[in-house]
Amino acid sequence: MSNAYDVIIIGSGPGGYVTAIRSAQLGLKTAIVEREHLGGICLNWGCIPTKALLRSAEIMDHANHAKSFGLTLNGTMTADVKDVVARSRGVSARLNGGVAFLMKKNKVDVIWGEAKLTKANEIVVGKMTKPVVEPQNPIPKGVLGEGTYTAKHIIVATGARPRALPGIEPDGKLIWTYFEAMKPDFMPKSIVVMGSGAIGIEFASFYRSMGVDVTVVELMPNIMPVEDVEISTFARKQLEKRGLKIITEAKVSKVDKGANSITAHVETKDGKVSQITADRLISAVGVQGNIENLGLEALGVKTDRGCIVIDGYGKTSVPGLYAIGDVAGPPMLAHKAEHEGVICVEKIAGLPNVHPMDKAKIPGCTYCNPQVASVGMTEAKAKAEGREIRVGRYNFNANGKAIALGEDQGMIKTIFDKKTGELIGAHMVGAEVTELIQGFVVAMNLETTEEELMHTIFPHPTLSEMMKESVLDAYGRVLNA
Ligand SMILES: Cc1cc2nc3c(=O)[nH]c(=O)nc-3n(C[C@H](O)[C@H](O)[C@H](O)COP(=O)(O)OP(=O)(O)OC[C@H]3O[C@@H](n4cnc5c(N)ncnc54)[C@H](O)[C@@H]3O)c2cc1C
Repeated sequence: MSNAYDVIIIGSGPGGYVTAIRSAQLGLKTAIVEREHLGGICLNWGCIPTKALLRSAEIMDHANHAKSFGLTLNGTMTADVKDVVARSRGVSARLNGGVAFLMKKNKVDVIWGEAKLTKANEIVVGKMTKPVVEPQNPIPKGVLGEGTYTAKHIIVATGARPRALPGIEPDGKLIWTYFEAMKPDFMPKSIVVMGSGAIGIEFASFYRSMGVDVTVVELMPNIMPVEDVEISTFARKQLEKRGLKIITEAKVSKVDKGANSITAHVETKDGKVSQITADRLISAVGVQGNIENLGLEALGVKTDRGCIVIDGYGKTSVPGLYAIGDVAGPPMLAHKAEHEGVICVEKIAGLPNVHPMDKAKIPGCTYCNPQVASVGMTEAKAKAEGREIRVGRYNFNANGKAIALGEDQGMIKTIFDKKTGELIGAHMVGAEVTELIQGFVVAMNLETTEEELMHTIFPHPTLSEMMKESVLDAYGRVLNA
């Protein structure tokens, strides 16, 4: 078999494997190199297994409120941590196997091992690295491995890994990253979560539902700092009602380790330091791109703050070399990685009218309880840009479906450009908003105006009706409030 390809992709996360499929669909001879696990972080240690854990948490939350639905649970609902984790790992393993199937179906060669660039169009593949925690599925026999491979185009899709703060480095025992938090072998009684981005808040929400005493420490004034302040304030109140403790404008400055516990020194902005002792600390202070040991420096590939610099089509500073996904910078989200990869390979194939990545239209979702979802500008950002805006709001407590579901706490906020009527931002908190947001993503992509949204018929009774009411509210025409 020839070692020469049209396209080689390094890394088989959602960015890499989706790009490989699209590349093969476009008739390009394609290979993907993977050193650990098909599906990358997303399928094995990120998006998917966390959602499986959060589903267990959701069922637990519902069970705890069974009485209010006229239902009595005989006996108490308890979580068996081993089984909760086993289900989550099983979900990952199933999808991981699915990627192997997709590679085969699309005739994408899988090259197992760690890739290093020797030229812009050549890689050397070494041995597999030791899996971070454990492999998902056995590596299929008879696939390609160590050797030298060439391609007309090489796409780096090597993803990211947890960032560590100096002095508070994760040790896998007392200080966890998402790897350990994803598969605890016991249920801690108490946890400190350092960082309240999507990853930190999802774990905080999961562990709280499992009855753990959770304290979140966040440096910024608001949790989920990228979200609209009104939404994150709303979410914070709901999380606190569920018993989560949240300390903002504070940092964990030091961690003392005991035999089986940690003591976090929490410093607030006024310089006061308090101590919180807990069973474990989850470090969720962001991720950093996997740019090391790839041969990027020798080739003169431009990087910035730990990520590869690219244009709107994934091109790096070196001709023939591309980057997509987490390694190519924020927002570090699976759907961004996938879309970036598809754009990149369609441009390589010479397709006409390939649109460059528009980061303003990438939705973001956090699957805590209550869920948070958004797309486009926050109110603060729109104002900072000097835009004249109209803002609409609608609360879940006036929506029939939300009340029937017993999920009447939430809010939908829409932001329009006052002059043009263009929808420039949508922000949500409450049940199922991670599913609802896509309606506004489509609308924004089609450059929809308020008029078109107001003339759209939404089914009744649904949570989605609140999307229309929020739009109507922005124009003083709200109906059910
Ligand atoms: C706990 C958690 C929850 C998350 N939840 C969500 C969510 O709900 N929604 C969402 O959109 N995003 C979520 N994310 C983020 C999401 O996982 C990433 O954005 C996504 O995985 C990025 O995809 P990628 O293809 O760029 O890289 P990755 O998924 O990181 O894949 C990169 C792959 O490259 C391989 N690799 C690296 N270097 C080499 C090399 N030299 N040779 C060969 N192979 C190599 C790695 O082994 C890995 O398999 C979550 C992340 C975490 C950690």
